[in-house]
Amino acid sequence: MEQLQTPFFRIKEKDLLYDISILKEALLKNWGNYIAGYSVKTNSLPWLLSYLKAQGFYAEVVSKPEYDLAVRLGFPAEHIIYNGPIKDKKIFEEVLLAGGYVNLDSGYEPDWLAELSGRFPERSFPVGLRVNCDIAALCPEETLVEEEGGRFGYCYENGVLGAVIKRLEKLPNVKISGLHLHSSTQSRTVHVYGALAKMAVRIAREYALSLDYVDMGGGYFGGRDDKPDYRDYFREICKELSAHFSPDKTKIIAEPGVSLISRATTFETTVLDVKDIRGRKFIVTDGSRTNLNPLVTRHVYPHHIQYISDTSVRNREHDQWVCGATCMEYDRLFEIVDGAALIPGDKIIYDTAGGYTMCLNPLFINYFPAVYIEHTDGTLFTARDAWSNDEFMMKNYTESEACL
Ligand SMILES: *Cc1c(COP(=O)(O)O)cnc(C)c1O
Repeated sequence: MEQLQTPFFRIKEKDLLYDISILKEALLKNWGNYIAGYSVKTNSLPWLLSYLKAQGFYAEVVSKPEYDLAVRLGFPAEHIIYNGPIKDKKIFEEVLLAGGYVNLDSGYEPDWLAELSGRFPERSFPVGLRVNCDIAALCPEETLVEEEGGRFGYCYENGVLGAVIKRLEKLPNVKISGLHLHSSTQSRTVHVYGALAKMAVRIAREYALSLDYVDMGGGYFGGRDDKPDYRDYFREICKELSAHFSPDKTKIIAEPGVSLISRATTFETTVLDVKDIRGRKFIVTDGSRTNLNPLVTRHVYPHHIQYISDTSVRNREHDQWVCGATCMEYDRLFEIVDGAALIPGDKIIYDTAGGYTMCLNPLFINYFPAVYIEHTDGTLFTARDAWSNDEFMMKNYTESEACL
């Protein structure tokens, strides 16, 4: 294979197809009536969105730029799932009028809906509601991402959800047609999803809702053989949902992000230099922690190493720190204790690098790396060239003579 200039991301189509197929199969076998959505925020690479569209995915969007991007890439408005607490009024109306999916999450959306439905009395407006429920109480053993609980959706326990339901039921041409239960726990257990599905049943019964869909959100594990996958989650979810819902009437919606693209994506870097500082080896590479985890919250970077020469004849090093390409001390990725000495030219390849990386990458010191697609037949496609100053300087203006 041709030598590509590192650093770059590689997406392997074969692995992507594998995770797509287990998602679809899990939804098909356990429920049958489903919509597979994809969370655009997790990785908004245009190639990826376009590929997933061709695979039948809907685009789950939470902002105006994401919506505009999805539409620009050819997603019809009826294949949009519009979520989140920060909505744009024009898009809210556009998606509803086109028959797309909108899950209400804020205090102002019921007002918008009242106004819109009043303006179009002959149209009907099915909408979903994002549910906020106390997961810590439902699953006391879970580690939650936020200890004080999630902040999205309408709170079930204090009656805010009930009040929104009552209000919308007074609007003659509005129907509460869905519940949205996306939530994120650190442990991502199958058990949490079972509890959320049970909550959908409980709310539908309590408020006598006749639902066209239950949207289970994202947040699943995927691409890791030591963790549960879609088959485990949807077996449990559908078992709980079937206590009250039936696939003839009610669709299940999934909107995964990271679980769909992790396995397929690697970030590939090269060792440029080895520095010896007071007995410690610092391995300088051309990729950075900012490419993989700009929030600098992660301490584990799954990876493998391709050595350019035989390691059995190399020295062993007690302590090597693999560092990134920025001039920040915190740009250190992982430590190799008692390993073969790394040398310039060795490749360090980070695995499961697809989610919250390319799209969260800052323009800090270096710009966006290239992205290559490895097709199932081994051929490569350039999905994104590395950014240069041509892109960085777009829409910039100086007040000097020098031409931008
Ligand atoms: C972020 C998000 C997702 C996807 O989450 P992953 O952890 O990437 O699977 C799905 N739905 C909503 C509403 C989200 O905010």
